[in-house]
Amino acid sequence: MKLKEYLKLNRITNKDFSKVIGISPVSLSRYISGERVPEKEIVLKIFEITHGSVSPDDFYLQKKDKYELNTEQEKLIGLMSRQLKSGSKKALAKTITLVESKLKKDKLLVQKIFEKFKKNNNTIRIGITGVPGVGKSTFIESLGLFLIEKSHKVAVLAIDPSSKESGGSILGDKTRMEKLSINSSAFIRPSPSDGHLGGVAKKTYESILCLEEAGYNIIFVETMGVGQAETAVYDMVDIFLVLLLPSGGDELQGIKKGIIELADLIIVNKADNDLKKTAEITQREYKNAIHITGKPRKGHEIEVLTCSSLKSEGLDEIWKFILNFINKQKQNKNFVEYRELQKIKWMWNSVNNNINEIISKEIEENKFVIEIKEKVKNKNISIFKASELITDFLIKNKF
Ligand code: GDP
Repeated sequence: MKLKEYLKLNRITNKDFSKVIGISPVSLSRYISGERVPEKEIVLKIFEITHGSVSPDDFYLQKKDKYELNTEQEKLIGLMSRQLKSGSKKALAKTITLVESKLKKDKLLVQKIFEKFKKNNNTIRIGITGVPGVGKSTFIESLGLFLIEKSHKVAVLAIDPSSKESGGSILGDKTRMEKLSINSSAFIRPSPSDGHLGGVAKKTYESILCLEEAGYNIIFVETMGVGQAETAVYDMVDIFLVLLLPSGGDELQGIKKGIIELADLIIVNKADNDLKKTAEITQREYKNAIHITGKPRKGHEIEVLTCSSLKSEGLDEIWKFILNFINKQKQNKNFVEYRELQKIKWMWNSVNNNINEIISKEIEENKFVIEIKEKVKNKNISIFKASELITDFLIKNKF
């Protein structure tokens, strides 16, 4: 129970209790209000004196408890989870909106919904990148429709670094993936960006889990190939595809070299009409180059294939490659291992985001931190010393 309730129940005044603990009444009232978390020794002393009625968790979980769900919200969560599981697109869209929300109460709702999710390793998460104009949306639409014909359910998350959360997204434009967007076995959603990549990426990862819960077994995550979101996406997919144009050299393509190095499969798109020959030359060049630059996953050889998204040619071979890749990854246990590692990565990402949020909100106004900032500005201390001092301060004060 909370210390406040304990004192009230036992009719003990703050003044008397603070005397027993050996602290000032002001400190005690700060602990009671949740403004400060007591030192470990004091928490243990309170635990002892109250005979375990006020446990350490009552202090450490104090902030979270403020946002407990009421029965109405509990009911809503139950309903949404059931609708999501039955594949309702409306419930899916609503859940992803909650995932994208910055409100504390929405975060708690999401957490409760996620608690009901089942582990699902029977899906395939495919990352796709390439410069604007390479044909990403045409490719996803062609491959998506090809897969739907094979009875798969296909979802697309498009990360658009230029969009803002409130104003729409260019990737949300209805003219992209026209046929796929109206297909009942497909779900397309732009992942909005507010310029803070860590947060966006985390939301995209959580959105993948929602899509899988709603029965989508092939998930495409699309990025623009300009080098911001790609490594984050690489860390949330099972296979990463890089689309290239039929022309020579990375510089001409406008794609960053580091991104090519992430590829599990390179696809030269637009291998049709006049461009077919050039596409084959590009394929050969990259096949030679990947032996030098590529960093394949354990037990995997990078491949370079060509296709025409416009004419839906070469898709069969690409899909065979993807399936083969996934099966091999599963056989040598890398598939689950990578997913588990990714989960841990996103857990830390979440911890970092939470800490950053708390720090930026609570610490900016802190007197000690303001003083340090002034000293850095006036060059009285180095940023290294300052960061050490602030870190120590944070740890001591259990921010
Ligand atoms: P994105 O910006 O990467 O999503 O590229 P889009 O899918 O919007 O395609 C850009 C342009 O390339 C469009 O005019 C497409 O019609 C065209 N395109 C896409 N794929 C192919 C292809 O396989 N062959 C040809 N010839 N054109 C293509």
